[in-house]
Amino acid sequence: MILKAIKDWREQRAVERHAIPDALWQLTLLRYPFLAQRSEDDLAELRRLCSLFLSTKEFHGVDGFEVTDEVAVAVAAQACLPVLRLGLTWYDGFVGIVMHEGEVVAARETMDEDGVVHAYDETLAGEAMEGGPLMLSWTDVHAAGESADWAYNVVIHEFAHVIDMGDGEPDGVPPLPSAEQRRRWRALIDAEYDVFCRWTDEGRDTVLDPYGATEIGEFFAVAVEAFFVASRDMREEHPDLYALLAVYFQQDPAA
Ligand SMILES: [Zn+2]
Repeated sequence: MILKAIKDWREQRAVERHAIPDALWQLTLLRYPFLAQRSEDDLAELRRLCSLFLSTKEFHGVDGFEVTDEVAVAVAAQACLPVLRLGLTWYDGFVGIVMHEGEVVAARETMDEDGVVHAYDETLAGEAMEGGPLMLSWTDVHAAGESADWAYNVVIHEFAHVIDMGDGEPDGVPPLPSAEQRRRWRALIDAEYDVFCRWTDEGRDTVLDPYGATEIGEFFAVAVEAFFVASRDMREEHPDLYALLAVYFQQDPAA
C-alpha cells in the first residue's frame, strides 16, 4: 500500500514536471488524426503517459538535429498509443532515443550459404535494438499523419519491436503469461504470415506493408502499425490477427 502510494506520488510529480502545454498537445492531435479520433478518456490517459514517457526517456539529436518539445511529444504520443492500457513498464528496457533529421544509411554485412560475406547499405527510418537505444528519422515521424493512409508509422513499428523483444528475440510473439497462449499466438501469426507472404509473392496490393514479408518479427511490427493507424482496413484484411491484437492491447481502434 505504502509502496503504491509512493509510486503514485512520484508519477504525479513526473506528470506535473513534464506537463504538455495545451497548444502543443492540440498541435500534436491535429497532426496525427489517428490519435485525435480517440475518446476523451483515451486522450487524457495518453497525455498523462506522454509526460511519464518524457520523464524517463532521454532524447539525443544527431548531426545538429535539435530535439524540440514538438519533436519529443510527437514521438511520445505515438509511442504511448500501443501501451495505453498496458502501461509504460513495457518500455523499461531502454532509455535513449536517437533522433536523426532524415533516414539513415547503415552499412550491413550478410553471409551467404557458401560462407561468402556480402556488404550492402540499408536505408533506415528507424531501428530498435535489444537494450536500446531506439533510432528514429524525424522526417518519417513528422509525416505519420499522411503516411497513415498506407498504414505506415515508424514510431509504432519500432515500439512494436520493443514490445516483441520483451521476452527475447523479436519473433512475432510478444510476452504472454502462459505457454498455451504463446502456442496459440504462434500458430495464428505463423498462418497469417504464410498467407501474407503468398500475397506479396503474387504482387497483390495489401494493407500491411509488404516489408512485413521479410521475416516474422517484421510482420508483427507492420501488423501493429496498421492496427493502430489504419485500423478498419487492417481489420478487414486480417480479422483474426486484428482480434488477437485487440485482446492483447486491450484496445479496439476500429470500433
Ligand atoms: Zn522493423
